[in-house]
Amino acid sequence: MIRRYTLLGGAIALMMAVLYAIWRAAKPDLSGWLVLLAGFALASVFSWMVARDDARDLRRLQKLVDALSVRDYGMRVRLQDPGVIGALGRSLDALADGLSTSEQKKRSRKDRLRTILDAMAEAVLVTDADGHITLSNEVLADLVGFDPEGKTAVEAIRHPDFRRAVEDAQQGFSGVLEIEIDGLREGGRRVLRASVSPLRNHQGIVAVFYDITAEREADRVRRDFVANAGHELRTPLTAIRGFAETLRDGAIRDPESAKGFLDVILRHAQRLQALVDDLADLSRFEGEELELDLEPVDAGPLLDQVVRGLESQSKAKRLKVVCSGLDEAPPVLADKRALEQVLVNLIDNAIKYTPDGGEVRVDVAPEGQDLFIEVANTGPGISSKHLPRVFERFYRVDAGRSRELGGTGLGLSIVKHLVSKIGAEINVDSSDGWTRFQLSIPRADSPKSDTRVSPS
Ligand code: ADP
Repeated sequence: MIRRYTLLGGAIALMMAVLYAIWRAAKPDLSGWLVLLAGFALASVFSWMVARDDARDLRRLQKLVDALSVRDYGMRVRLQDPGVIGALGRSLDALADGLSTSEQKKRSRKDRLRTILDAMAEAVLVTDADGHITLSNEVLADLVGFDPEGKTAVEAIRHPDFRRAVEDAQQGFSGVLEIEIDGLREGGRRVLRASVSPLRNHQGIVAVFYDITAEREADRVRRDFVANAGHELRTPLTAIRGFAETLRDGAIRDPESAKGFLDVILRHAQRLQALVDDLADLSRFEGEELELDLEPVDAGPLLDQVVRGLESQSKAKRLKVVCSGLDEAPPVLADKRALEQVLVNLIDNAIKYTPDGGEVRVDVAPEGQDLFIEVANTGPGISSKHLPRVFERFYRVDAGRSRELGGTGLGLSIVKHLVSKIGAEINVDSSDGWTRFQLSIPRADSPKSDTRVSPS
């Protein structure tokens, strides 16, 4: 707008100069020529100003076009000029507005998609037609240990079967496969079920990975458990059957050996009974439906009662049994029967695995919001290699010795389940000739316990 007025001003100045010159033409003198000259000078200045403004606007337009060509949609020229250059500027501004809006829409669509993908439990990747990953989620980055975008799918997941599935998907065929890869997350190898499909427009593929490591591990544990249980049950059954047949085939007529055989049958029957009882307990405690009755329990008298109940065994082995802190123990929040079973298992083990003449200690002390109970015994102990596994089902440091002592290999796994149901913790340590099982049980008078028993 200003430029137009400038032009108008220039033209008026020139016209005035020309009129004045004509008026003076009849008798031209010096002042007439000077005015004419001044008119020309003024017109030149105004024209130069117009040319300068046009050049500046054209440079800005060029900058805008350069920015658009590199997908920078933030710049605008906002020219005021009503002429052709101004119109061009306004058109380019409108183009930049349109491109910026569609880019924002595209970005927000991608962000939304990424948010959805990040909320998924499965790892996901999408590639372009060249096989390069254009979209993925955090689960995938966690799984492979780096940001896979920009890499090819087969670089991110290195497995020959997956490579084949990607090639098939690029040809338009979907596939589901199970692969095992070196996961970079803690826990080493991961087992993945991968579903690989072509995109609808065939411009890439999409792969979804379900981590089934835990499922496979559970299958393995279940298989091992069934095999172990079968083996454990078979041993006493075989013995019972063998001795019963021996009796039937004539040994029954020799009262002396018949009594010996019957004793063996009885011992194995008791072992079977113990196994079946422990298996029943284990399946009950492992199930979600086990309802424990959490209430304040006086741990001191309970421990005293358990130690007295096992006195005949400790006396038979001439063990020194020392208890401390029982009288001052504050009540704990637990299910009385479950806690009793835990303590019986731990103290019975301590007595069983202490060599004759050794020592068993039961120490109790409040520790913060918990009551700390330690059941310790002397003896060769448990080597560090076995320590982390003693709570596993059927895990025994010395299977022969455990069987000899009437053990089933299930006691500590039952303890572990009960302890976690009570909301307590258990640890084991074996050093300096002592094996120590340490329990931390929430005290009934601690604020932690209030929240555990509140109905909400
Ligand atoms: P078991 O019926 O064999 O005693 P548990 O599950 O109670 O089964 O214990 C698992 C294994 O841990 C035992 O076989 C034994 O080797 C070891 N163990 C448990 N308690 C003790 C202990 N107090 N001292 C030494 N070893 C122990």
